[in-house]
Amino acid sequence: MPVTQTLDADVLRRQDPELADVLLGELTRQSTTLQLSAAENFTSRAVLTALGSPLANKYAEGYPGARHHGGCEIADVAERLAVDRATALFGAEHANVQSHSGSSAVLAAYAALLRPGDTVLALGLPYGGHLTHGSPSNFSGRWFDFIGYGVDTESGLIDYDQLRVLARTHRPKAIVCGSICYPRHIDYALFREVADEVGAYLIADAAHPIGLVAGGAAPNPVPYADVVCATTHKVLRGPRGGMILCGSELAQRVDRAVFPFTQGGAQMHTIAAKAVAFGEAATPAFAEYAQRVVVNARVLAEALAAEGLSITTGGTDTHLLVADPAPLGVDGRTARGRLNAAGLVLDTCALPHGDRGLRLGTAALTTQGMGETEMARIAVLLAGVLRDGPAAQQARQEVQELAEGFPPYPD
Ligand SMILES: *Cc1c(COP(=O)(O)O)cnc(C)c1O
Repeated sequence: MPVTQTLDADVLRRQDPELADVLLGELTRQSTTLQLSAAENFTSRAVLTALGSPLANKYAEGYPGARHHGGCEIADVAERLAVDRATALFGAEHANVQSHSGSSAVLAAYAALLRPGDTVLALGLPYGGHLTHGSPSNFSGRWFDFIGYGVDTESGLIDYDQLRVLARTHRPKAIVCGSICYPRHIDYALFREVADEVGAYLIADAAHPIGLVAGGAAPNPVPYADVVCATTHKVLRGPRGGMILCGSELAQRVDRAVFPFTQGGAQMHTIAAKAVAFGEAATPAFAEYAQRVVVNARVLAEALAAEGLSITTGGTDTHLLVADPAPLGVDGRTARGRLNAAGLVLDTCALPHGDRGLRLGTAALTTQGMGETEMARIAVLLAGVLRDGPAAQQARQEVQELAEGFPPYPD
């Protein structure tokens, strides 16, 4: 069977042992360290199989039934499946599943709704806004006039009063809600109300919580936002990529903003893998998974607080939490370095008062089958490394033993 041969790791090993070793090295790294990054997860083998399938060879510019290339009959079936599953999963009238990444999805959403020079209101970058929310080093900051709302420096919660005042003052064309490190549910109804008051579009960048939405563990932005942008590779556990959800009245503008305005040929293997992931996310098992992710994050937050770290907003509603290691006498960047050396892989992020903190997530650990006992253990290991730098070597051993007890890809 030629198809199974293309999926065979032995083929790569024989042809290119050097690269095969690199891939094996990464699998080993992922299996012997703990992935506490809030943005990562382990896809299923079914998703990996779709990614490694011959659909990777197919050029398919355009949309199902209206392609610029021949031979797209099968590709069309794959994309229609992905679209139908996405609209059903999130209760959306329309889904575009071609965005190559979360950033590409946001770019297309802006292209669909805005003109260069328009004013946009988004969470400021120092408070957890994404690069695409107005960074001067990103197209967004260069082409639009971004105004940043913030979070309350004490509570860490979105300052909805400030949002309303800024919206009334600046009359933005669009308001963006969504963050790379906000641990609480977002009040989409309130954002909608503010957007309506000033006649702005509401764009929800739900890159992080969309997987929880799929599992019923976080509020759905679809009924409130004009356009919802998302990634498919975070909690949602699909392939690396993006997606846009909207109502039928904006469907054509969104589709044209993706292709031909900002992208060329669709990545059909990724779209097939998205279809697989949407199928998985519609199961009761995934809903259970999403609930466990949130419980694990709460338990981890409580255990870290008990170890003396300061937890932004006092906890979490989601898969992620933000911890300030300062009470243990170490800043965020130093902390990340020490923790990475101990096999506790995570990211830094902005803290409400300006310093760098640690961003932790439980999506990957939960996929591996870890639960509350392991969260408590990880909190103790993590705090131990931060209190006593030289302990990192000993901790590395314990982290590896813990990780190897929960292999992400058992065989
Ligand atoms: C992850 C993320 C993105 C970007 O996703 P990429 O696939 O890395 O481009 C955009 N917005 C938010 C809020 C994110 O968290």
